[in-house]
Amino acid sequence: MDSTARDERSHGAVRLNDFARQWQLVAEGASRAVAEVGSGGWYVLGVAVESFERALAVRWPMPFAVGVGNGLDALEISLRCAGVGSDARVLTTPLTAFATTLAILRAGGRPVYVDVDESGLLDLRRVAELARRGQAPKFLLPVHLFGHAMNLAELRSLSEREGLIVVEDCAQSIGATSGERPTGSVGLVSATSFYPTKNLGALGDGGAVLTSDESIARRARELRNYGQTGQYVHDFVGLNSRLDEMHAAILLRAMLPELGRWTEARARTARSYRAGIDNGHLRIPPTPAESRSNGHLFPILTDEGQRESFRRFLASRGIESAVHYPRLATEQRALSDAGRVEVLSELPIATRFARTEVSLPIHPLLAEIEVARVIDACNEWRPS
Ligand SMILES: *Cc1c(COP(=O)(O)O)cnc(C)c1O
Repeated sequence: MDSTARDERSHGAVRLNDFARQWQLVAEGASRAVAEVGSGGWYVLGVAVESFERALAVRWPMPFAVGVGNGLDALEISLRCAGVGSDARVLTTPLTAFATTLAILRAGGRPVYVDVDESGLLDLRRVAELARRGQAPKFLLPVHLFGHAMNLAELRSLSEREGLIVVEDCAQSIGATSGERPTGSVGLVSATSFYPTKNLGALGDGGAVLTSDESIARRARELRNYGQTGQYVHDFVGLNSRLDEMHAAILLRAMLPELGRWTEARARTARSYRAGIDNGHLRIPPTPAESRSNGHLFPILTDEGQRESFRRFLASRGIESAVHYPRLATEQRALSDAGRVEVLSELPIATRFARTEVSLPIHPLLAEIEVARVIDACNEWRPS
């Protein structure tokens, strides 16, 4: 890095995502991928999608990966493959991207909510309690939020003991493990997203379904392609949700080769934040036991009523921040208008996250000096 660049990094904005910096790094591979697909003349469901699916499956690792249009579709297709249909109740977390809830609705199911734990993820002990009393729905859609892996041993024994069918939302959790297991390996089927801000992001939309069940992989391939079981044969109502050759090629050639380094960089930043941030008015929520997180987001909680003051202070230091998420799924009009809100517990912890959470910059191309600026700002802020 030359001195001008270093100077910019010590004074310019610290961004939540820095796609301009990312482009400098991936431009060559991405441009080659575009040329390959363009000149090859086959743009939908061809060799690039097949190669990317194989590489993703090896990398995850899971036996089968099926590329689809985006994370929401990946979730809907996964839920439908798992058997969620008309009015099936699906237990999930209120603290997540609204897409998690939308996927349940689009699959025809009814979302059911319980509170999260101190890490901000679906509280499995509460789910176990409900299951013991016979009140848990048959379908469970946990979300590996913030890039933390939920405790997969616990999830597995719970689902086996109670006969629950698990579909995992891995949109934020590529590369995260619990024990030695990757997220997505306990569910009958799992879904991920290649939205640009995710750890493995496309230059546009993309997603994938992951499973170790070959017949489910086949069903997912049919569902993404109009429900075609043979050419012009439609045995059920499918979607048009195909991952484009262009995006598959870019993901395969330009992004996937960087994922390991990028995940390392995120983990380094997370360690620096944990070691360096020391302010009694800020609390870093614990990661779930056994989680080796992928550093997708770095959540921090302020005192009640102090979030805006903290975010304004960060902004005054040129530091961008975000909130994941300011409004619970249960508070969204789209859901209550559908008359479909079923909540099985009070939601005090999810509500505390919704009111006080702030996400600090943790993208993989942050410079050390930028990480230090964020730490200094966190330590110097006082509630107003
Ligand atoms: C991003 C995200 C989704 C949706 O993915 P899209 O590709 O944007 O449709 C679903 N669930 C979670 C937890 C997400 O973070």
